[in-house]
Amino acid sequence: MRKRIVLKFGGTSMGSADAMRKAGAIVRSVDGEAVVVVSAVSGTTDALIALGRAAVGGGDWEAALNEIRTRHAAIVASLGLDVGLKDFWSEMEQICQGVAQFGELTPSILDRLLSLGERLSTAIFAACLNADGTRAEMVDAFHVVATDRQFGSANVDFALTNARAAEVLSPMLAASVVPVVTGFVGRSDSNRYTTLGRGGSDYSAAIVAAAVDATELQIWTDVDGMFTADPRLIPAATALPQLSYAEAGELAYFGAKVLHPKTIKPAIERGIPVRVLNTFHAEAPGTLITSEKRPSLKSVTSRKGITVLNIDALPMLGASGFLGTVGDAFRRHQVVVDVLASSEVSISVTVDQAFPEALLDDLRAFATVDVDPHKAIICLVGEGIRTDLDVLWKLFYAVRTIPIRMVSQGASQRNITFAVAETDADFAVRQVFQAFFNS
Ligand code: ADP
Ligand code: ASP
Ligand code: MG
Repeated sequence: MRKRIVLKFGGTSMGSADAMRKAGAIVRSVDGEAVVVVSAVSGTTDALIALGRAAVGGGDWEAALNEIRTRHAAIVASLGLDVGLKDFWSEMEQICQGVAQFGELTPSILDRLLSLGERLSTAIFAACLNADGTRAEMVDAFHVVATDRQFGSANVDFALTNARAAEVLSPMLAASVVPVVTGFVGRSDSNRYTTLGRGGSDYSAAIVAAAVDATELQIWTDVDGMFTADPRLIPAATALPQLSYAEAGELAYFGAKVLHPKTIKPAIERGIPVRVLNTFHAEAPGTLITSEKRPSLKSVTSRKGITVLNIDALPMLGASGFLGTVGDAFRRHQVVVDVLASSEVSISVTVDQAFPEALLDDLRAFATVDVDPHKAIICLVGEGIRTDLDVLWKLFYAVRTIPIRMVSQGASQRNITFAVAETDADFAVRQVFQAFFNS
């Protein structure tokens, strides 16, 4: 079978002329068809957010814009490319002028501004590939990825996206042209630019991989794969050769930034193997993520910015329907519960600290609610660890000096989660790592 590989390059892989050259060599080495998805040049999305805020807040947005332009111009010059970016700069200027004039930066306008990060990097990288002899063409995902109007974290319409991908990408592949697709962005049903959430280019790549029925999805980043722990926090952490889809999904969800949490689902649905690889160390084997489940502890991760809610409705507890009533309140406010633990007199749940206050009003109609902010979730992931008693005692021995807020071990075969104070999170991860991986 002919290989069709979707390669996603992250911000650091687009972050300099040298990085782009390395990425280009990787694309050229593909034996089969290649579809490329790229992030903005590293730091650009943050810079664009700051730009928008400067424009709306009466700041010196022209200087901020110039900095972004200079950074990109330096990469283009150093690659010796002749690529027309003029229209992007005019669009950026126009957006900022409008924002400054009306004093309003709507989520829709912000998404249009952010889309320019990926549109710029895509244009440059496509030119870079062409200059080195690979026929490539920029594709604005505005014309491929169909979404709703939830600006900032839009939801994808897969049926429409697949149809558009067939229209836009298939003819290019048939003509042996490498499509270079903007990550992160989509187009709403109201014809506006949308974005898929921070770090969303991984998800874009998975969406494209599913749409073109790729034989493999490669996430090219700045580390050798998914690690036993965040390598920035734990320098002794090592790359994992293999993970199941579910393990990778849970690691991503509970804080392993290397993969956007939504990336795994489209890959599972089409059975597409995912490989996490290092642009700057391309010969390393990386991490292969497939449906194969190998029981063992794989990794420890943490997610900060968590609030624990203690919900206590003594008169209702034990009464049928209590959990349902609580669940309804969360559903009404679209608040996702990550970890849940119950006792005889109350239930505790963890939510993202940005949860809407109105949820509390609803819950307080029938329960007392105690809000406990500034927590972190620590998560151990590995197929089969839930039933491994050794893991449990070793874990609690390792964190015995840290006050533990709640523990959840029930829901998934492959994860044990507990909440601690945010200030204890890094120490907890180090202790767990030391106990399980550093022997
Ligand atoms: P990209 O720009 O390529 O998308 P990201 O910065 O989003 O890259 O993700 C890569 C980073 O994720 C790594 O540099 C690493 O610091 C961080 N990271 C956090 N947890 C993990 C983990 N468990 N395994 C590997 N990397 C991790
Ligand atoms: N550029 C976007 C961000 O910084 C998307 C991505 O890099 O994946 O969030
Ligand atoms: Mg990323």
